Amino acid sequence: GGKYFSFMVRTAIPGGRITSDQFLEHLKLGQTLGDGTLRLTTRQGIQLHGVLKSNLKAAIRRINEVQLTTLAACGDVRRNLMCNPAPYKNDPVYDKLQELAEDLAAELKPNTTAYHEIWLTDSETGEKTNVAPASETKTKDTEPLYGKTYLPRKFKLGVALPGDNSADVYSQDVGFLAVCEDFDIVGYNVLVGGGFGVTPSASKTYAAIAMPMAFIPVSDTNTPAIDVAKAVLKVQRDFGNRSDRKTARLKYLVRNWGLEKFTKKVEEYLGHDLQAPRPMEVIDYNDALGWNEQGDGRWFYGLFIENGRIKDAGDVNLMTALTEICKTMAPPMRITPHQNLIFCDLSDDDRERLEGILVHHGVVLTDDISTTRRWSMACPALPMCGLAVTESERMLPTIMDEMERELTSLGLGDEVFTTRMTGCPNGCSRPYNADIGLVGKTKGKYTIFLGGRRQGDRLNWVFKDLVPEDEVVSTLLPVFRQFRDDRQTNETFGDFCHRLGKDALAT
Ligand code: SF4
Repeated sequence: GGKYFSFMVRTAIPGGRITSDQFLEHLKLGQTLGDGTLRLTTRQGIQLHGVLKSNLKAAIRRINEVQLTTLAACGDVRRNLMCNPAPYKNDPVYDKLQELAEDLAAELKPNTTAYHEIWLTDSETGEKTNVAPASETKTKDTEPLYGKTYLPRKFKLGVALPGDNSADVYSQDVGFLAVCEDFDIVGYNVLVGGGFGVTPSASKTYAAIAMPMAFIPVSDTNTPAIDVAKAVLKVQRDFGNRSDRKTARLKYLVRNWGLEKFTKKVEEYLGHDLQAPRPMEVIDYNDALGWNEQGDGRWFYGLFIENGRIKDAGDVNLMTALTEICKTMAPPMRITPHQNLIFCDLSDDDRERLEGILVHHGVVLTDDISTTRRWSMACPALPMCGLAVTESERMLPTIMDEMERELTSLGLGDEVFTTRMTGCPNGCSRPYNADIGLVGKTKGKYTIFLGGRRQGDRLNWVFKDLVPEDEVVSTLLPVFRQFRDDRQTNETFGDFCHRLGKDALAT
C-alpha cells in the first residue's frame, strides 16, 4: 500500500459560540471526511482528525459554507479568541465580555486573500465559493497590522472576569481581565507575556504567566482596548525574535526587555501613556457545567465531554446523541475552554427532552461525573499529534478511574482541583498552572507538577520527574493523605501544595 497523508483541520470559533447547524456540519464532516470523531479543543475550537489530503479542500469549503473558518486557527497570527462561555443573559458584564472577544477577533484578523485563493477557489474551474463569513469576503491584500512577514510566532488572546477566569488569561500572550463596578465593566487590566510552550531540548524556553501591564478604561466602545491589543501586536511584530522560533513568543520579548521598557514601547506605538493596572485577584473559574439559569427564564446545560472527544463507541453514542439534539432541538451552543459543550436557551420542557436524548444514547449526564474527572482535561497526543512523546487523551481516563477510587476512600471525592495532562511539554492543555500537571516527558513517563490552581494565576513546579504512567496516582497518594490530614480550613489542594512547597510534601 502507498502512503496516505492525513491532516488535522481546525475551526476557529471566537468565544466558542456556534449554532446547531454549524455544529451539525462538523459532526457530518467528522463522520464522512474525518476519522469518525470530532475533537473540542482547549481554545474553544473544533478539530477534525485524519482528513485525507484529497479531502482537505472539501472539508475547508464546507466549514466556510456554514459561515465558520479555519483561517487563523493556525499560523503566526492571532489565534482563536477565548472568552467565558457561560451564556448569562441580560447581564451587561457577560454581554460586554463576548462583545470584546468578537471585536478583538475581527480587528486582529489577517486580511490576506491567499486563504480564499487556496482553499475556496475551485482548482479546475477557478470558481470562487463566495460564502465565507461576511467579515471575510471583504478582505484586501493589504496587511496594516501584520505587514508582509506576519508575526514571529502565534499570538493568543483571551478575555475573562476575576470571578470566572475560564479563558485562562494568565496563559495568553495578551489577556483582558475585566474590572467591574456596580455590576458593569468599567475597564480591563491588560496582561501580557503568558504562554505555556516549552521545548525540552532548549533550556532557554519556559512556561510563563502573563503580567498585568495597564488598566484600560472602556465605556460605550471597546476601541481603547482594541487599540492597546493592536499596539502590543505591533511591538511583537517589530521586535519579537525572528531568528529563533523557540524563543519567538511575546513572553520572551516582555521578559528580555522587562515590563517597564515593554510598556513604554507600547505607549510609544499608541501615542499616549497608559494607566497602571488596578490591583485585582482572580477568585474563581466557572466551568459552566450542569443545569444553570440563564437569567432570562431559560436554562443552559453544560455537558461534560471527556477530553473533548466526540464519538460513538460501544454503548456510548455521543456523536449520534449530539446529531439528534442539533437536528431536533437546535439550541445555540458554546464550546468551553475545558473542552466541554454548553446547550443554550432551553425552556423548562426542553430539560427533560435533552436529558432523554443523552441518556437514550448512553451518554453519562454531568451530575453523574465525579468532581475529580469533571475538572480534568488532556490534549490529543498519540496517535494524532506529531509532537507527542506519550499518551494523554487515551491515558487520562484510566488515571482518573484510579484517582477517583483513591480520593473517594480518603474522603476527598468532592475536592475541586484541576488535573491537566499533555503528551509533550508543548502544553496545549495548559498543564503549567493546574493544581496537578502531568506532562509527557519520554515514552511512558511523565513529569508531575503541583502547586498551581484552577484560578490559573500562578505556575506550578516540578514535584517528580520521569514517573511511569501506571505509578502516577501512587506517587500522588502520600500528598493526598498529607492534604487530608494537614490542610487548613477550606484550603484547596493546589493552595496546600503551594503553601508547603516541594520539600515539605510527603513522598
Ligand atoms: Fe500539544 Fe504536545 Fe499534546 Fe501534541 S502532544 S497536543 S503538541 S501538548
